[in-house]
Amino acid sequence: MQLVPALLPSLIQAIDRAIEANAEEVTALDQAIGDGDHVTNLQRGIKALLAQSDELARLDWVAAWQKIGMTLMTAVGGASGSLYGTLFVAMSKAARDRPLNLQTFAEVFASGVDAVKQRGKADAGEKTMLDVMIPVATSLQQTAADSVALPEVFENVTRAAIAGMESTRDMLATKGRASFLGERSRGHIDAGAKTSQLMICALVGVLAEHLTAPA
Ligand code: ADP
Ligand code: MG
Repeated sequence: MQLVPALLPSLIQAIDRAIEANAEEVTALDQAIGDGDHVTNLQRGIKALLAQSDELARLDWVAAWQKIGMTLMTAVGGASGSLYGTLFVAMSKAARDRPLNLQTFAEVFASGVDAVKQRGKADAGEKTMLDVMIPVATSLQQTAADSVALPEVFENVTRAAIAGMESTRDMLATKGRASFLGERSRGHIDAGAKTSQLMICALVGVLAEHLTAPA
C-alpha cells in the first residue's frame, strides 16, 4: 500500500490513543519540571485534528501538513503548540513540488525539525522535544541514504525516538519552563520529548502495518 493522506485518520487516531494511554505519566513529567499542562495542551490539538480528519484525508500532503500545522498552532497553545505547528508548516513548505518517497520524506522531515530549532532557538542536548526529533531525523536520513528495507527503517526510527526520549532524563534544561529549575531539572524525562516519542512510535505502528502488509 502506498503512503497517501487517506491514512491520516488512522494516523491521528493512533496518536490520540497513545497520548490518552500515557496522559497521566506525561502530566506527571510536566508537573515535575514544568507547569503540568502539556498533555491537555496537546490533547486539544489532537481532538481538533480528529474533527478535521476526513477533510485532511482528501488533501495532498502539502495541503494536509499545512492545515495540520495551522490547527496545532491555534489549538494547542503553550510553547509546544507553536513548535509542533512549525514542524508541520515547514514540512509542507519543504514538500512542495516534490514526489514523496522515503528519501524526500527524510529531507522534508529534517527541514521541519530545522524550523523547530529556529523557532525554539534550541538544539540537541537542551532537554526538549528536539532531543527526540533530531535523532529521528538523522536516523531517517541515514536509512534513506543506505536504502535499507522499510521494516528496518521503522525499527531504527523507533529505537532513535526511545533513546532520544530517555536521554533527556539526565540533561540540564536550558530552554522552556524547565530551565527555570536549573540543576533541579535533572532526573526527569522532558514531557515534550515523551509526547514526541509516543507520537512517532504510534505513527510507525500504523505505517508498518500498512506499508509492509502484503499487497
Ligand atoms: P509550556 O512550557 O508553555 O507550558 P507545554 O507544556 O505545552 O508548554 O510544552 C512544554 C514542552 O515544550 C517541553 O517539555 C519541551 O519539550 C518543549 N519546549 C519548550 N521550550 C522549547 C524550546 N525553546 N525549543 C524546543 N522545545 C521546547
Ligand atoms: Mg507546560
